[in-house]
Order: sequence, then C-alpha cells, then structure tokens
Amino acid sequence: MNQSPDLRKRRSDEENSSDPQTLLPASPQQASTSSPSGKVRRRFKKKHQPRTSQGSDSDSMEEDTETGSNQPLKDGQEVEDAPKTTVEEVQETSALKSSDGEKKVGSGSDSEYDFALLKQQADELAHKFVQKVKDVTWKVTHHNFLPDWLKDNDYLHYHHRPPLPSFRTCFKSIFRIHTETGNIWTHLLGCLAFIIIAIYFLIQSIMSRDDWQEIVAYMMFFLGAILCLGFSCLFHTCYCHSSHAAKIFSKLDYSGITFLIVGSFVPWLYFGFYCDNVTRYIYLVLIVSLGAVCLFVALRDTFSLPQYRPLRAGLYVALGLSGVIPAVHYVSVNSFLTAIQGGGLGWMILMAVLYISGAVLYAIRIPERFFPGKCDIWFQSHQIFHVLVLAAAFVHYHGINTMAAYREQIGECDAGQLFTDTAATVTVEN
Ligand SMILES: [Zn+2]
Repeated sequence: MNQSPDLRKRRSDEENSSDPQTLLPASPQQASTSSPSGKVRRRFKKKHQPRTSQGSDSDSMEEDTETGSNQPLKDGQEVEDAPKTTVEEVQETSALKSSDGEKKVGSGSDSEYDFALLKQQADELAHKFVQKVKDVTWKVTHHNFLPDWLKDNDYLHYHHRPPLPSFRTCFKSIFRIHTETGNIWTHLLGCLAFIIIAIYFLIQSIMSRDDWQEIVAYMMFFLGAILCLGFSCLFHTCYCHSSHAAKIFSKLDYSGITFLIVGSFVPWLYFGFYCDNVTRYIYLVLIVSLGAVCLFVALRDTFSLPQYRPLRAGLYVALGLSGVIPAVHYVSVNSFLTAIQGGGLGWMILMAVLYISGAVLYAIRIPERFFPGKCDIWFQSHQIFHVLVLAAAFVHYHGINTMAAYREQIGECDAGQLFTDTAATVTVEN
C-alpha cells in the first residue's frame, strides 16, 4: 500500500522518538481522554493539507463522547495519540481512495498507481491484438521445429501446426489444412452422424413403445460411439494448445475408445443372450470391469508417451478381442448358422478385422513409414485408423440391427427354450 509523505514522516517520528515523556499523558485531562476506559474517540482532520508542527494541532479537533465537549489538541497530545491515529488515518485514507472510484494525479504514489493501471490496460489490448493476428497468421511448420511435446510422428515432415496457446485459435484451425485436418474431420463428421442416428432412434423407439431395455442397450452403444468420436475430435483439435492440454485431451481420447468398446458389447450381449439373463449379466460385469481397468491405465500420465504407442494399441485390441469368449459361447449354445443369422457373427468378425487393421496400421505407421513426408496431409496411418474405426462402428450398428430383426422374427423366449436352458444347467451340475 502506498503512504503519503506526510504519513511516512509521522510514522518515522514515532519510531525515532526515544523520550518516554512523549508517551505519557501531559496532564490529568489528557490522561482521562487517552486512557483505555471505553471512551470512543473520533478525530477530524484536514487530510490532504501540508502539516506544520503548529498548524497540525490547531487544525485538529477532538470529541470526547463521554463529556460531549470539543477541545483543541494540546502540545504533545499529537505524539501521544500518534500510533492510534496513524492506523486510523491509513485506514481512512484507504477508504477514501477506494470510495472515490478514481485516482488523482498529483502525488507521486498516485501517479505510480495510474501508470500501472494504464500499463495493464495497454497490455490487455496488445494481447488481444496479438491474439487476433495469431488467429489468422499462424503458419504450418516442419516437424523439426516443433517442441518435444508436439513431436509424435516423425514420418510426417511438413504442415504441422505450431503451438497455438488459445482454444479459439485451435478451433479455428479446424478449417485450415495441416496434418490434423483429416483426423479432425473424419471423427467430427462421424460424431455428428451418430448423434443424428441416436436422436432418430430414440424418437422412433419412444413413439413405437419399444422395450426400455432394448432402448438402453442401443443407447449405450450410441453413447460410446459419440463419446469416442467426439473426444477424438477434441483431442486432435486442441492438443497443440499446450503440453498440459495435450495430456488432458489425450486421456479423454483413450477413455473414449474404452467407452466405444464397452458400449458396443452391451447391445450384442443383450440380443445374443436374450433368454439367458444370468449369462448376459455375468458377461456385462466382466466387460465393464475390463473397461474400468483400461480406463485406469489410460488415465495414467505415462500411458500417453510416444514409446507406449504399441502398448496402447495392444491394450485396446485385447479389450475388443475379449468379445471372442461370449461369441464362442454363443456358437456352442446355438449353431454356427444361427450365430451368423441371429448373432450377427459375420458383421462382428468384419468389425473386429476393421478395428485390428486400424490399430496395426496406427501402431507401425503404415503407409507414411514407406513414404516419409508424402502423407503429411492425407492418407497417413492415423487418418486410415480413424476411417476404419468409423467403418467398424457402422458395421457394428448394422450387426446389432440384424440381431434385433432376428429376435423379432423368432419371437419372445418360449417355455421350451427356458426348460432346455434349465435342463442343460442341471445336467452340467450333475
Ligand atoms: Zn485419433
């Protein structure tokens, strides 16, 4: 806090005073007014006026609330009350400054304050101006000029975005051509497509009063697809913002893949084990548990480092391939032909091939590995991976539609089927 020269002089005088007499009351009258006997004092002073040794006292008045009389201050009383009045004066001065709402230019301290305010406003204006210029004038750069946290794929040579420490600039970069343009748009369009399909499905299902369990099963898949594609789009848009943003959005990206895989299992298990609730719920618990493990691993900082890329690909392939167990179970309980017709097995195999192909290309960086610098904008492995993930999601959607149609065709679970299941269970137990 700035002090006026007047206040500094007075405080210095008080600190330098070594005469104990100045700290004592000069008279009984003063003793009665300065003693801590519950009396309330108020001092009225002319504040922004130079004070002389005589004039300051003549300008001061003291009100004793006990006697109600106003008396001029006597010599020595100024020094005696100085510590108390100095604090009061500083507080009152501060209150005056803040209540005025404007700073007066005149004294040295106020000028400094004004200058700081002007500097701050100028800085803000300059920052806004620079930001607007950066929004439109940033240029793509070579991989070698990127900071370490932005270096990921050294087979892509040119057209990298530089660090863009503004989310607005990051989002505007969606409409520019660079190494991430294809990655952003493939999953942005996919996300919008699944949002539209999900809304259409929900409206249609509510109007036709479908089974609420079936609606929930479908919606889990839609939710997984929308989160996966949406988080992926956000990651590719914003990871050039800063190293901190890159970490956060990469975790969201990996989490989205987990949601898609787990969400894809739900409707398949719902229709695949439609008449066997116990088996269905056991598999659901298992896949949700595996997904939770994947999520836990994906949220660790070290997981997003470039050297763990094969591990990332392997983990999600393993999570997806865990679907082989219920698929084999389905084929063993039913026939292979039924699995193809009613279990959507052909579509599920195609989906797995698409996912795995994409993950392998992503992990070993084909084709840019063979054409360094030629796939900077289009046909890089990550884009192909994105397209294959999108294709796999649509294939899965078609597959569960096939299963739903088959279930509708054969009707609800009949007593014979339930009896067969029960008899098989009893046989196994014996
Ligand atoms: Zn991606």
